[in-house]
This record gives sequence, structure tokens and C-alpha cells, in this order.
Amino acid sequence: MKYDAWFQDTETQSGRWELDEIVYRSPEGNLLEVCHDLEALKQRSAASWMQLWESRYKRTLWPFGSGVWGKKEMILPNIPDEHVVSLDEGGTNLFWAERFGRQLGLDDLWVKQCGVSHTGSFKDLGMTVLVSQVNHIIKSGKQDIMGVACASTGDTSAALAAYCAAAGITSVVLIPSGKITPGQLIQPMANNALTLALDTDFDGCMRIVQELTEDKKLYLANSMNSLRIEGQKTISYEIVQQFDWELPDWILIPGGNLGNVSALYKGFEEMLELGVISRIPNVVCCQAENANPLYRFYKNDWKDFEAITAQPTQASAIRIGDPVSRSKAIRYLKRNGGIVEQASEQELADASARADRTGLFNCPHTGVALACLIKLTERGEIKKNERVVVISTAHGLKFTESKLQYHQNQIDGVKSTYPNEAVQLPPKREAVYDAVMRHMDTKL
Ligand SMILES: *Cc1c(COP(=O)(O)O)cnc(C)c1O
Repeated sequence: MKYDAWFQDTETQSGRWELDEIVYRSPEGNLLEVCHDLEALKQRSAASWMQLWESRYKRTLWPFGSGVWGKKEMILPNIPDEHVVSLDEGGTNLFWAERFGRQLGLDDLWVKQCGVSHTGSFKDLGMTVLVSQVNHIIKSGKQDIMGVACASTGDTSAALAAYCAAAGITSVVLIPSGKITPGQLIQPMANNALTLALDTDFDGCMRIVQELTEDKKLYLANSMNSLRIEGQKTISYEIVQQFDWELPDWILIPGGNLGNVSALYKGFEEMLELGVISRIPNVVCCQAENANPLYRFYKNDWKDFEAITAQPTQASAIRIGDPVSRSKAIRYLKRNGGIVEQASEQELADASARADRTGLFNCPHTGVALACLIKLTERGEIKKNERVVVISTAHGLKFTESKLQYHQNQIDGVKSTYPNEAVQLPPKREAVYDAVMRHMDTKL
């Protein structure tokens, strides 16, 4: 069976551009989306698709063991396998947050650990697709591409640099100087990307990279390039698969540029169309209060969207005031009754630390989602017996500075509720024994 995929205008749901073309917007200036021949895909039954996906999941037949490429027919059906650039992304663990859930009064709480991945964030899911397509265009001589560029709050540049390095493609990353963590900054440097630190914020970098990539020899890798969304949408497929094809009731996901929440919905809408699922879960898009343009818009009954200048936040990867994928995300959220919630610096830091105490190791963005979870649970919107999945977007180890500061009670404007500082002691048995005994009296 031959399946087909192409770009179309997301707003008008029309137009057609081939995936080998270098195009990010329609002539009207709207974002594009990858469209699949769903009629052809529906020729195969839902049961048979599920069986195929199960047979590939985390197995060794390259590249189908990847959580993304196991769904290849839904992603880039026509790319030759030898042009795929995969670092075995996806297939990340679902953590049963049993203890943390019980503390919140929830029986069935799970954390999808997307940060347990090659470069430590979910950005790998989208980047494997984008870089594979670029590799395919270059290898088949269809277009003249000299390199790939992105603006980044840290994790996109890490993923782009790694996938390009693996494929031998030149990468260029634009980052806001001093606004990403050392753990993120070292990644593109190590992977030999041209790393440009600009004296501006993410939105400023985003504007420049769009101008830069008007020269089509430099391919744009931000999530306004809808190829990224195709990889990221496998989060939805994978969650359902990991629950033996049962749906959770709620999904909470941190949102910045709003590509990922769009991807989550795209995955669910496609599975619904294919008959794999019968409804779409409740989705909560979670923003940091210091970077909350979508939340403000939602609270204003979806009227008069206003971009803002995002303020500093521990959740630095979502410090975005003018989200590029907003119209896409807003359409999905409205159509499916999605919710938008926000968390303050205090709330996100405490939520993250509290969850860490039950065995997780969260990044601050996951902290935002966990804080929103606490709010919805306290308001009674999320109920005790409902199945909830929190999307953890990055590995906590990329954010050790702010986590360390939290435990040392050094975050401006935040009073750490759950600090646990290292205890400095002389190398004496008595002192150590006393410290241990005192600790045994504290409540876990
Ligand atoms: C990119 C990123 C997000 C936000 O995803 P968007 O698609 O920009 O909304 C959230 N958390 C982390 C860790 C990220 O790297």
C-alpha cells in the first residue's frame, strides 16, 4: 500500500506543497501542517495498525524500534529507510507516580518521561523527523541545502545539533545570551554546531532566524516547521500504547511556543480518525505565570490575543511571550475543550521539589505542569479515580542550577518549602552518627 503525505495550510485546510519543497508558510502567511492520506491509512483496520506498532515497539529492526519510526506510515511514509536519521528516540518510560499521586489524593497518576532521551528532552522526537527529511532532500539531490538553523531556549538547539552531527549536516543555533542553562549550552557546542549567543530574548532570536532562513539554503528547524510536529505527535500514540490502548482521562503538558500541545492533539485526532481511540482526553496546557500569553488569552474568553515580553522564570525553556504556533494550538484547544492553567515561580518550584521527594527528578517545566495538576485536583476538576498523565518535557539534570538554588533557598522571590541542603560535617563518627539519628526523626 502506498501512503502519501504533503503540507497544507493549517488555517484554510487547503493548498498542497510536497514535503521535499522548502516552505514554512502559505502565501497568506499561515503555518502549514503535514497532511496524510487518511482514507488510504483507514484501509487497514485499527486492530491491524495496533498489531503492527506493537510488533515494532522497542525492537531491533532499524529504524522501526524508535518510538517515532515505528509509526513511520503516519509520519513520513515515503522516506527511504536509509535516509532516516534516528538516535533511537521515543519509547520513554511512563513513571507510575504512585506515592506523589496518593499525596494529592489521586489513585492513578503517571509521568511520561520524555526527557529520558538522547539529548534529554522531547525535542528529539521532532528533530529526528526534520533532520531525516533534510537528509533525504540532500541525499536525493532535490534541493541545495547547506545547513539547518534554529532559534532556541536550549533544548531545540541541543536536539538539532545532535541529529545534524550524527548525519554530518551543518547546524546553526541562535540562543538568547545568558538565558539558557550551562547543561543546555554545552550540547550544541559539543556537537560542533555554530553556536550564536545573541543579546536578546528567545522571541528576538526567533525573529532573526526567520529572516535568516528566507535564504532557502539554510533550512529552518523551529517547530513552526510542521515536520517537527509529526515526530512530537507520537507522544499521544505512545501513551495510549503504553496503557494497552486505553486512554487516560487527563493530560497536562507545559506550553511555550505551543508546538508540543498542538502535536499532542494532532496525534489524538488522527488516532480517533483511524478508530484506534474513541474520544480525546482532557488536555491542560500549563504555562509559567511569568510567560503566560496563552493563559491570559484563555482567561479573556479567547478574545484579543496579546503577545507579551516574557519575564525570567526557572522554566526557562518556556520563557516565550510571542508563541509562533499559537493559532494552531488555539484551534486544537478550542475544538476539544482544552484548558489553560498557570503556575507561579513559588508553585512550580515547590511542586517540582515535592514530586522529587517521591522519586522523580523534575525539570522546572514539569514543575509547572505538576503545580497546575495540584490546582485542578484541589478544585475538584480532576477526580480521585481518574487516570492522569503529566508530560515531563526535559531531564532534571539539564536544570541543576535552579534546582540546587531551590534546595539552598536562594531563588529570588521564592521561599523553598521543601529544601534539603547538603549537611557539612567534619569527618568524625560522632558528628555523622548524630546527624543520621536526627534525620531519622524527620517525616518523609
Ligand atoms: C520546548 C520545551 C517546552 C515547550 O514546548 P513548546 O512546543 O514550545 O510549547 C517545554 N518544556 C521543555 C523542557 C522544552 O524544551
